[in-house]
Amino acid sequence: MKILVKAPAKINLSLDVLHKRDDGFHEVKMVMTTIDLADRVELTLLDADQIKIVSHNRFVPDDNRNLAYQAAMLLKNKYNVKKGVSITITKTIPVAAGLAGGSSDAAATLRGLNKLWGLNLTLDELAELGAEIGSDVSFCVYGGTALATGRGEKIQHIDPPPHCWVILAKPTVGVSTGEVYGQLDLANVEHPDVNGMVQAIHNKDYNGICQLVGNVLEDVTLKLHPEVAQIKEQMKKFGADAVLMSGSGPTVFGLVHHDSRMQRIYNGLRGFCDQVFAVQMLGEQNRLD
Ligand code: ATP
Repeated sequence: MKILVKAPAKINLSLDVLHKRDDGFHEVKMVMTTIDLADRVELTLLDADQIKIVSHNRFVPDDNRNLAYQAAMLLKNKYNVKKGVSITITKTIPVAAGLAGGSSDAAATLRGLNKLWGLNLTLDELAELGAEIGSDVSFCVYGGTALATGRGEKIQHIDPPPHCWVILAKPTVGVSTGEVYGQLDLANVEHPDVNGMVQAIHNKDYNGICQLVGNVLEDVTLKLHPEVAQIKEQMKKFGADAVLMSGSGPTVFGLVHHDSRMQRIYNGLRGFCDQVFAVQMLGEQNRLD
């Protein structure tokens, strides 16, 4: 028996960090939405009591460091599953890019194994388990658009944003999320208006959304990696309506309404950057089959 699950990437339309908590995590407040750029996660039932990861991407670990492996192991231990699974991950989402690729693979694994292993858990139960693997996994279990708080695992669903194109460009620099958070000086940052973003989305106010995009981590990453600032400038110059870095970077995304302008920006950026994508937001939440 084999199950194929789509694992979409996310972008942050707004990302604020409120404070550092006693447990070492940062308290965040962010608006996330899934986009139509997805990995493919194929789950094949194994009779042997074994979890196997197959991936042909050299940046993706094929052992217990893989978040999809951790998702399978968590379900196996919690529900005393005696069967195994082979997990084949075909990556399209750039790795270590600020797009939650690993988290989404883990979330897809949770959703798929729920079916493959006949666990009958609800999405809420899967999301709660997901939080044990990583802060973004809960959101990825649901997909759609949400306000995420806590360390990112408390999810309030919100309306899908109005239709537009999302152009993504991933510079070839490696960004360390730990270093970015480490250099964040919360006393001297401009906090984005996260509530305003939620309201603009609710009002289907595309111009409002474009004005309100903001990411408190952006300045830190731009200082560490000037290449990211250059890509931002290019995207603005080519005519994107709004430009922002996603997560801790280095991927930059631009929003654009008109098809013809999307094409112009996409073609223009390909001259500067190997990994460029033009996709749409997915908007709607996942359902359990
Ligand atoms: P986030 O936006 O949640 O911070 P990210 O998009 O920046 O995540 P990932 O693509 O999830 O980052 O990869 C971060 C690291 O996680 C990689 O360098 C890799 O070693 C490890 N990793 C574990 N599992 C996976 C997976 N399934 N796909 C990609 N990377 C994975």
